[in-house]
Amino acid sequence: MLNLSTPIEEIPRIGAVYQKRLKKLGIKNIRDLFFHFPHRYEDFSKITAISQIKLNEVCCIRGRILEIKNSRTWKKRMILTQAVVEDKTAAIKVVWFNQPYLVKSLKIGDFVYLAGKVILGENGLYLNNPAYERSGLKSDLTHLGRIVPVYPETEGLSSRWLRYILKPLLLKLGNKLLDPLPESLRTKNQLMPIKEAVWQIHFPDSLKKAEAARSRFAFEELFLIELSVLKERLKLKQVKALSIPMNIKLMKKFTDALSFTLTDSQKKSAWQILKDLEKPFPMSRLLEGDVGSGKTVVAAMATLNAAKAGYQAAIMAPTEILAKQHFREIPKLLAPFKLKIALLTGKEDRITSIKLKNEVLEISRQKILERLKEGEINILIGTHALIQEEVKFKNLALAVVDEQHRFGVEQRARLCQNNGSQVKLIPHLLSMTATPIPRTLALTVYGDLDLSLITELPKNRKKIKTFVVPPAKRKEAYKFIKGEVKDGRGVFVICPRIEPSNKEKKDILGWSEVKAVKEEHEKLSKEIFPDLKIGMLHGKLKTKEKEKIMQDFKSGEIDILVSTSVVEVGIDIPRATVMMIEGAERFGLAQLHQFRGRVGRSDLQSYCFLFTDSPAVNTKRRLSALVRCNNGFELAEKDLQIRGPGELYGNRQWGIPDLAMANLKDLVLVEKTREAAKEILEKDPKLKNYPLLSEKLGEFEKRIHFE
Ligand code: ADP
Ligand code: MG
Repeated sequence: MLNLSTPIEEIPRIGAVYQKRLKKLGIKNIRDLFFHFPHRYEDFSKITAISQIKLNEVCCIRGRILEIKNSRTWKKRMILTQAVVEDKTAAIKVVWFNQPYLVKSLKIGDFVYLAGKVILGENGLYLNNPAYERSGLKSDLTHLGRIVPVYPETEGLSSRWLRYILKPLLLKLGNKLLDPLPESLRTKNQLMPIKEAVWQIHFPDSLKKAEAARSRFAFEELFLIELSVLKERLKLKQVKALSIPMNIKLMKKFTDALSFTLTDSQKKSAWQILKDLEKPFPMSRLLEGDVGSGKTVVAAMATLNAAKAGYQAAIMAPTEILAKQHFREIPKLLAPFKLKIALLTGKEDRITSIKLKNEVLEISRQKILERLKEGEINILIGTHALIQEEVKFKNLALAVVDEQHRFGVEQRARLCQNNGSQVKLIPHLLSMTATPIPRTLALTVYGDLDLSLITELPKNRKKIKTFVVPPAKRKEAYKFIKGEVKDGRGVFVICPRIEPSNKEKKDILGWSEVKAVKEEHEKLSKEIFPDLKIGMLHGKLKTKEKEKIMQDFKSGEIDILVSTSVVEVGIDIPRATVMMIEGAERFGLAQLHQFRGRVGRSDLQSYCFLFTDSPAVNTKRRLSALVRCNNGFELAEKDLQIRGPGELYGNRQWGIPDLAMANLKDLVLVEKTREAAKEILEKDPKLKNYPLLSEKLGEFEKRIHFE
């Protein structure tokens, strides 16, 4: 007895080899097979009369076999199956290669459907290597004479084979599928019931029906994402956080001490954050602002407010270099307030610094940890080292995370293990990112976070001048760069990965990026700028080496820095005014914009050169969008529309199923699913009345990971 959970090993007609191939796709049982959707369709529903077929067109015919026989081509030693098929209007020759077994299944007198390309041979038109199906009742057709599903091509698993296995199983067990979507929701949003939808997505009556089936699943998948992130939000309302009163006087003192005035969006963001910190449940806020928009100052205000209220704050950066940069900048900003600020990086025991009144004290890691536990340290800055087991705060109230986006409730809870209180306290989270997040993503993948946007750059900034540089203009650009260096400016050169040859394809990705940098470094220092100092930065260098190079670049020891695309996102080198990007067509708009943001960080005029050898029109269009537009948010939306979410974010990144992924650019649909999820959770936050949905959500959450 087969059922939906029957493992594929127990399905008749699937041998060991095919079992293995299915497993490779993650298909373990019959249900999985049902949910392995086609990615497109071939419309063979229209039958062409043989008298009407046209040369070089693909057509589907139906007729009777008049002749069929095998022969051997003497030139290439291939087996040819030749047939003649006739309908009421005419007859046509048919040829197959290397499928001798066909003569056993297709006999003279049989009615068949054939679909293939019409080709002109020595003896007139013939149908070349067509797909075939013996004709019976129309409803029995699987491969031809209908709209036919085409599945993503996987080695050794043809669409024909999948259809052949799937159809009888669907006919038998399709009605056992239970719908996780409640009926009221389906009616309201005009969604096909699951049984119908699974059938129609595989064997649609019409393309319209296939589309409707796909929309149903796209809706379902996005809806599950919404449920998941909205539930995460609800969870946060049920735990406690330290409430930090907003100290307006203190904030004013801070801003008065700055050498500049905050932009309006900085003020607004700071206000939103400080308001959230007053609440007794944890904030989860994403501070999003273009590179150079001044997020650090806003974060400094929040940490200051927490520290002066008697609590601790942590600032976590993705790399050691960025952590150290914060450790230079934050104490400067907070200098008037006499706080103890410590740096903690790396896993092993090492000397760590603590800053007080801008003096740096080098003390052991052990001492830092002790003082942290006693509440002697107000602000701890560091890398991932901050979330190790032995790091324990006394009363951590705020965690600031730079360029990481998310820091789940569980992770946050770990930081507070030892806060001595009975009630479990979760620190407030301020996450900062320079990656512009399109609206649809803000509502899905980041849907559990509140957003604060810094939409303007500080007033003293000049618009970065951006140019697309074709090969013919390269010399001119180099000349210009030389001039900038003469004036004491710094220049970045970004190299894309060199595509490895097929043999190397596997684990050498990093290597080939390093190789690109080394080659470019060699070229620039030997041929182009022999009299300039050229540095090199890539992922294979040790942290100490990287730091030295960044320091030298900052101070002017190095004129031109050749780097991989990993040049740290938050790096702040005000003297750098030129960003030169090789192979610019290989990068997405948002990423190019990120690179561009490494320059233009002072009142100096800065430049961005996009080098490209690609004459493709699409490349031109994309790159010229960058020339025209200086706004990261707009570029991110454009990128999403031009390249699509699949290419931009990659399916694997969050474990989002394909249909949802493809629909991540559909704002209307995303908003609809969000509304639907809100509505259902408002009435029934635990989904008690929807056990099927709840179960489905549980499974779904196991596969997604929005970090
Ligand atoms: P990002 O948002 O990329 O992290 P930073 O916080 O590093 O940007 O700020 C970039 C530079 O701009 C810093 O040197 C900072 O001191 C300066 N800055 C921040 N806000 C302003 C402002 N309102 N006016 C002028 N300069 C500012
Ligand atoms: Mg920053």
